Amino acid sequence: MSFEHPLRIDARMTDLGDGMQVHRTLPSRLQRTVGAWCFLDHVGPVDMAHHTGMHVGQHPHIGLQTFTWMLSGEIWHRDSLGTEQLIRPGQINLMTAGRGIVHTEDSQATADSLHLAQLWIALPAHLQDMEPHFAHYPHLPQWEEQGAQYTLLVGQYASYQAPTQVYSPLLGLDIAVEHAQTLHLVVQPGFEYALQTLVGGFVLTSAQDAQRYDTSALAYWPADAASSLVLDVEAGSRLLLLGGEPLSQKPTMWWNFVAYEKERIAQAQQDWQAASPRFGVVGDGKATRIAAPAIPWR
Ligand code: MN
Repeated sequence: MSFEHPLRIDARMTDLGDGMQVHRTLPSRLQRTVGAWCFLDHVGPVDMAHHTGMHVGQHPHIGLQTFTWMLSGEIWHRDSLGTEQLIRPGQINLMTAGRGIVHTEDSQATADSLHLAQLWIALPAHLQDMEPHFAHYPHLPQWEEQGAQYTLLVGQYASYQAPTQVYSPLLGLDIAVEHAQTLHLVVQPGFEYALQTLVGGFVLTSAQDAQRYDTSALAYWPADAASSLVLDVEAGSRLLLLGGEPLSQKPTMWWNFVAYEKERIAQAQQDWQAASPRFGVVGDGKATRIAAPAIPWR
């Protein structure tokens, strides 16, 4: 049982354009990373009858993996390796940027709503220059327990193993409940955890009081803070549990880049602005190209 409250990280609202509502909880000044998870945007749900959806032009990444988990709607991913992949609800797109990649993301108007979680995973220092690659995971381990439906997105949980290829000890677990439930989530020694609400909410009860979390805040537990996570989940809720071994070396994140040396970020910014072949182009290269801001520490 856990009797102490986790750290509450309030989401910042950002706009992806066209009034697209985004809650951003990582990185936060309170906590930059959860394991190697270093960025968390909760997008939507957006009513597609009133929005044009998500249309992100050509932009580069280095030193990270982009991770997309779809709840509703469809998005076309296209990248400079020639990948064209439609992602649907219940599927994951995982793009490993390594030394450099460019991609675009365009939601389809085929569904009523668009709802997804977009995360970044920092690559470890010795792999930050690896060859870029892309993977799509249409099938993930699913099971029911304690009245909840679990989908394992990353890592291991109970007797299950996710197929997603990541490069550090990580967990990603989607939890959906139909009726109000008390859940006991298993934690792994040495892992830190965070719980993000995607729909609905949950309540954590300490020795002193009870605190409710909904989409407006992330709950964060340091490594070994609790022997299990006990939560009262509201009916119809959908939660995302993230976990991982705390990073021993914290990378620098700037714009769309992650690196362990600032010079690598400055070089990537320069290469992107100079349209260096290091990054390549998406398709015929005609999609809008997003300019990098100036490096602030020069
Ligand atoms: Mn991106």
